[in-house]
Amino acid sequence: MTRVLLLGGTGDALRIARQLGREHVYSLAGLGKVPDDLACTVRVGGFGGSEGMARYIEAQRIALVIDATHPYAAQISANAVTASRAARVPCWALRREGWQPQAGDDWRRVGDWAELTAALAAFERPLFTLGREPLAHLDDIPAHQFWTVRCLDPHEGNARARILATRGPFTLEGERALFAAEAFDVVVSKNSGGGATEAKLEAARERGVPVVMLRRPPLPAVDREFERVADLLEALRIAV
Ligand code: NAP
Repeated sequence: MTRVLLLGGTGDALRIARQLGREHVYSLAGLGKVPDDLACTVRVGGFGGSEGMARYIEAQRIALVIDATHPYAAQISANAVTASRAARVPCWALRREGWQPQAGDDWRRVGDWAELTAALAAFERPLFTLGREPLAHLDDIPAHQFWTVRCLDPHEGNARARILATRGPFTLEGERALFAAEAFDVVVSKNSGGGATEAKLEAARERGVPVVMLRRPPLPAVDREFERVADLLEALRIAV
């Protein structure tokens, strides 16, 4: 029997976890919702770096690690490869394809927060859809800007920032209504890929609103890489 350790925290990972029997383990960092309706074991919280994960793999007699974490969760992806090498088990990964700009899109690609704020200088009403990072900068908002920050965690805003604590998926109708009501003149996004949060790009396209896109971090090579959940599940059916 191949005992799987699935690293998750994404909708795709949850789809895989739903197919796993009770001998397998689904691991979450503990930032979002923890599902309570899975057949497999759910564990929550960090392992204590790659060494802690390697110890876990050995102690739990894990035979395959699957990294289905978010494409911007670079630390856990690096740890998965280091730990599985140390424990001598294979590591697979779901590496979801990023979005591509379409005709009429105006994407400005940035690599870090400094480049991001420089790219935003000409705008007044950004919508941030990057997670919680902007919350650390609410005291530095330029006088000509009003920020809307959409993220999972409730957080206090201020005179120049509103926090929308909400989780996807987001519909096109919902995004259209939000863009119309708030008159955003730029959207700040990670290139997450997938359908759950893509509607903001279509709403931006319709309104001619530019997108400041944070580049994906580099991720390590793995033994097998999949773009689609269905392909990974198929390989798993053969392997398990
Ligand atoms: P990260 O920077 O790559 O990881 C930070 C630390 O969190 C890791 O070193 C690990 O702690 C722990 N960790 C992360 N994912 C874990 C998992 N699935 N199981 C157990 N421990 C985990 O990750 P992040 O960007 O903070 O993301 C945290 C979680 O949120 C991930 O599960 C990710 O899939 C999900 N998520 C992230 C984003 C994003 O934009 N970054 C978006 C949507 C969902 P130890 O070193 O102690 O093991």
